[in-house]
Amino acid sequence: MHPPPSADLDALRVAIAEHWADHARDLPWRAASTTAWGVLVSETMSQQTPVARVAPSWTAWMERWPTPADLADAPTADVLRAWGSLGYPRRALRLQECAAAIVERHGGVVPHEEDDLLALPGVGPYTAAAVRAFAYRRRAVVLDTNVRRVLARTVGGRAAPPPGAPSRSERELAAALLPDGDEASAEWNIGLMEFGALMCTARSPRCDQCPAAAACAWRRAGHPADEHAARRRTQTYEGTDRQARGRVMARLREAADGTLHSWAELVSVASTDPDQAQRAVATLLADGLVVERAGELRLP
Ligand code: SF4
Repeated sequence: MHPPPSADLDALRVAIAEHWADHARDLPWRAASTTAWGVLVSETMSQQTPVARVAPSWTAWMERWPTPADLADAPTADVLRAWGSLGYPRRALRLQECAAAIVERHGGVVPHEEDDLLALPGVGPYTAAAVRAFAYRRRAVVLDTNVRRVLARTVGGRAAPPPGAPSRSERELAAALLPDGDEASAEWNIGLMEFGALMCTARSPRCDQCPAAAACAWRRAGHPADEHAARRRTQTYEGTDRQARGRVMARLREAADGTLHSWAELVSVASTDPDQAQRAVATLLADGLVVERAGELRLP
């Protein structure tokens, strides 16, 4: 993708800034008092989980473990219980490992250099960029699904970005569009993300009310269909291994601290499909979300 004509880019910048000024959601981690650790926790929780579900969990989490040192010291079973039903609980384990690494390598302070962030457990290019942009107000290319979709439509003239991780050309385009200066780029990043979350949504873009409509290549082209539609995974949950693992984790979280469970008990709650049930418990063990002691199972 090539950068748009400067008139379109100017119009897009104005539209994004105005939308942010008028419609930014009051999410708890956007308070001025939020620490870099709070930003890192919010970004970890918000990957794969809608922000409406994340907000109350984030607030309770930060009250309980306001610093990396607090989380590093916590019993892992408590961490997994507090993660609750946010889903993909390996993120909770990685977050605790990340907290321990921040304490060990950085004296308990979330680093701001990209290489240091990327070296932390569970921190990939997106989270590193988000922490740099939103916690430290640095110039960083923040490329989440919302940003990718907005750029694919407004600049690329496509319904959606290609499936999978961001391509090199997407990264180059996002970097080329990033305003000069730390503060301006941080505002652009947060504004683009919010615009994608609220206005230029995946399923129901509000083109009729969109302040960027005149500068949008996809709209001008007549909304051509998604060329990758057949390759996109439909996210079903019912009947999946994920659901079976979720049932086992729910049983473990609900039990009193220190309760031991038999393999047969956990298999029985996982699934009516015997192979799937065995697989659910076995993969939770392999992931470190369940531990075995003398033939009995429990949270780590
Ligand atoms: S016109 Fe529609 S597709 Fe284009 S940026 Fe606005 S909401 Fe998105």
